[in-house]
Amino acid sequence: MTRILISEAINKVGDQVVLKGWVHARRNLGKMVFFDLRDMSGLMQVIVPPNAEEATIKAVKEIRPEFVVSASGVVQARKAGSENDKLASGKLELLCEKLEILNEAKTPPFEIDNEDRQASEELRLKYRYLDLRHERLQKNLSLRHEVILFIRQFLSERGFREVETPILSKSTPEGARDYLVPSRLYKGKFYALPQSPQQYKQLLMCAGVERYFQIARCFRDEDTRGDRQPEFTQLDLEMSFVEREDVMRLNEELLIEIIKNICPEKKIQEVPFPRLTYNEVMNNYRTDRPDLRKDKNDPNLLAFCWVVDFPFFEKDDDSPTGWTFTHNPFSKPKDEYIEAMKSFGVSLSQAHILKNDKVIPTILTTQYDIVLNGWEIGGGSIRNHKLEDLLAVFKILGYSGKEVTDNFSAICHALQLGAPPHGGIAWGLDRLIMVLANEPNIREVIAFPKTADAKDLLMGSPDEVTPEQLNELGIEVK
Ligand code: ASP
Repeated sequence: MTRILISEAINKVGDQVVLKGWVHARRNLGKMVFFDLRDMSGLMQVIVPPNAEEATIKAVKEIRPEFVVSASGVVQARKAGSENDKLASGKLELLCEKLEILNEAKTPPFEIDNEDRQASEELRLKYRYLDLRHERLQKNLSLRHEVILFIRQFLSERGFREVETPILSKSTPEGARDYLVPSRLYKGKFYALPQSPQQYKQLLMCAGVERYFQIARCFRDEDTRGDRQPEFTQLDLEMSFVEREDVMRLNEELLIEIIKNICPEKKIQEVPFPRLTYNEVMNNYRTDRPDLRKDKNDPNLLAFCWVVDFPFFEKDDDSPTGWTFTHNPFSKPKDEYIEAMKSFGVSLSQAHILKNDKVIPTILTTQYDIVLNGWEIGGGSIRNHKLEDLLAVFKILGYSGKEVTDNFSAICHALQLGAPPHGGIAWGLDRLIMVLANEPNIREVIAFPKTADAKDLLMGSPDEVTPEQLNELGIEVK
């Protein structure tokens, strides 16, 4: 007989079935042995009567938590009074005729059936495959799957295409440190892991794709925090022939539909999402990611808002001109600032004048950030699709025209070869799912996260490599 899932057994009262899974918890009641069997779909009580065949009686004496077993028998109603309302299968049990041990398990380093007594995070991450057996983490993985599936369907129905972009790429100026990968064939040269697919998605617009998205892995070598990981996942999206409003409207609709369809227990505080300017939020909340919830004790309340009209540039002592970008160097300023910005291109030779310039800090970008319950869950902008405008931004940042065309040669050429107006956004998917799952940090919604200090305790990385491997790469460790 083929094995069925516990969730399927619920509709099979009186039928002979085979269930397979893990021994969750076991108890002896007189001569009867009871245990909870766990599979990916849930738990089912199994009862082994004292008159079962010898091999089964032997097996049931041996089983301990996390043994992998096959249990065949008849699905029956539990005795009145012994039902468990907390389980979908709580009114039923399997009267086991044949129990077979498929694999044994040593005593796990922490309990699986009772997460309240869970171990330290370090131990949990070292044995992540056991940690993931906890019901809470199974639910988080499944929520993540459903959100991503919904996004793919929603965007596909609206004409978007998912396109993969390279992981081995080139270093880009996105504000964080790049992870570098040495090239064996070209010693002394390096790939960089993408901080985001920013340039690729813009090049896809130049390629005529018009509506792109990707569930994209991004890498940033920054100091990690609760909501940061060396690698994280974005919903990355870009559209051609759009204004700021178009991108914001589409994303707002997608977020609302995700909540309605996947988290119906959640309530969105205000629709349409409030739109606040950077000045407003800084004056009223002293942060650019305000938590607008009227009741912060309600775990099901979601307060989204958009923040717009950010300054394009901010002071930076490390920049040769004294200025860096606040969000994204490829963004377009708001229309009314484009002429002002272009005028700076000419005076770059007098970089020191720029440092104290009064106009630069007034230039606003088309950037929009989406904030949820005090977390920035996404951000994007309309881009400069004309080379001269992009060059003007980079001049304020202290790059000469040649440095820009050398470092960003693909995009510079593409902008001169029929680049459409375009804009997009990226969501920090881990953060969104973290908030939806009511979890305190993104490690709880990532299957195999790194620790807060960027270690993979499960695999033991980062790690040393052999002298041969270094030699092949032409690298010597200082
Ligand atoms: N690439 C940007 C980021 O990763 C998002 C965007 O502007 O689309 O923050």
